[in-house]
Amino acid sequence: MKITVIGAGLLGVTTAYFLAKDGHEVDVIDRANGPAMETSFANAGMLTPSMADPWNAPGILGTLLSSFFSAHSSFKLRAKAIPSMIGWGLTFLNNSRKPLYLNNLHRSAALACYSMDILANLNEELDIHYDGITTGSLKVFRDQNSLNKLAKLSEHLKDHDMTFRVVKGDALLEVEPSLAPVAHNLCGGVYFPEDHAGNAYLFTCEIEKEARKLGVNFHYGIDVQKMVKEGSKVSRIITASNEFLADSFVLAAGSYSTLIAKSAGLFVPIRPAKGYSLTVPLNGWNGGPRMPLIDDGFHAAISPLGNVLRVAGTAEFAGYDRSLTRDRLDNLYHLLDEIYPGFKPFIDTDKVTEWAGLRPLTADGSPFIGKTEIENLYINAGHGPLGWTMAAGSAKMLADIIANRRTTIDPKPYSLGRY
Ligand SMILES: Cc1cc2nc3c(=O)[nH]c(=O)nc-3n(C[C@H](O)[C@H](O)[C@H](O)COP(=O)(O)OP(=O)(O)OC[C@H]3O[C@@H](n4cnc5c(N)ncnc54)[C@H](O)[C@@H]3O)c2cc1C
Repeated sequence: MKITVIGAGLLGVTTAYFLAKDGHEVDVIDRANGPAMETSFANAGMLTPSMADPWNAPGILGTLLSSFFSAHSSFKLRAKAIPSMIGWGLTFLNNSRKPLYLNNLHRSAALACYSMDILANLNEELDIHYDGITTGSLKVFRDQNSLNKLAKLSEHLKDHDMTFRVVKGDALLEVEPSLAPVAHNLCGGVYFPEDHAGNAYLFTCEIEKEARKLGVNFHYGIDVQKMVKEGSKVSRIITASNEFLADSFVLAAGSYSTLIAKSAGLFVPIRPAKGYSLTVPLNGWNGGPRMPLIDDGFHAAISPLGNVLRVAGTAEFAGYDRSLTRDRLDNLYHLLDEIYPGFKPFIDTDKVTEWAGLRPLTADGSPFIGKTEIENLYINAGHGPLGWTMAAGSAKMLADIIANRRTTIDPKPYSLGRY
């Protein structure tokens, strides 16, 4: 079958790879000049099924409202984004009710764990290099209450065969010795030994190369303007320069999937949630973490990725605005300074890369994968804060659906039709 994939981020590229493996003739279109140039470019790099708990936890409404008054809030709702958020926002808030929240946690955890298995297969089958580490991850806390809450919530992860350990004092430093200078400020942490990390941009580039070897054609610098629906099918995609015809199409354009789908009359409820990152060269410093550290209070992470530290986090609802906001970036510098004060003299500010990307967020925290109501249109989008963790599994699942093969995990909970 001839299939055109829209989007060459983590999700589009991995999907193209698995489709090509199945013998399909695949084209990928992206407006950028290469793979993973938007949200997949500089994320925190964490492969963390342990973080399957959705952002809209019980109490999220209070957090969002108080964000209007605090520059340092980990969540930020900008007034200009409110009109576009109304319907979606109500569903987002509704999903913070405890039973729905827990259901959403289990759905995301199942996909994230499956995805780690598929990623492990890729690592075994292919000669790919992306600064991967298999050390686990550590969430650190400044107050006992929050630590207890996470430890209780993490009990749910045991249903997915994940393990965790509450670590304090010497045990905390055994897991992550680099915390020694600031250990007195921390009350402890929760260690997730099965988590991994790696550079998502490098991974996407490596998989893009593998997909090319299987015959996938990548068309860069091409902006999709609309999808034309004729009868029950998409007949073609119109771009600024030409048209793409195919038997089937896959929408993997991250947050922009909503806009492209709308042109064919399809409703895809994804909203952009902006996050920021700093990429800081180590510059000879060797006091950094050996695993990703998540600071629960700051809602941000510090990950070692090869010869840089990636500091990433915060969530800002500001529509499709990708501009860099000083106070959000300053929060990340502040976190780095709080956790690793000894790094400061080594930081060459001219060499720090500041970045922002739009997480494609669904109101229940899990992505849309599978068929749509348009006969030959499939979707693989809406992975929010866990798109790197879920990429390999989501792509394999979609390839299985397209091939009419039995999927390893039940695909129904991830369908666009669940709304
Ligand atoms: C700060 C931050 C930290 C994060 N940390 C993590 C993490 O540690 N672990 C984790 O698992 N996930 C993390 N994520 C989430 C993860 O990065 C995303 O879920 C993932 O990158 C989404 O991939 P995607 O392929 O759906 O979207 P994208 O990477 O945005 O790809 C979509 C592609 O579609 C293209 N496109 C859009 N519109 C058009 C058009 N009209 N025509 C042509 N092309 C178009 C874009 O150019 C883009 O290349 C983080 C995200 C952020 C912002």
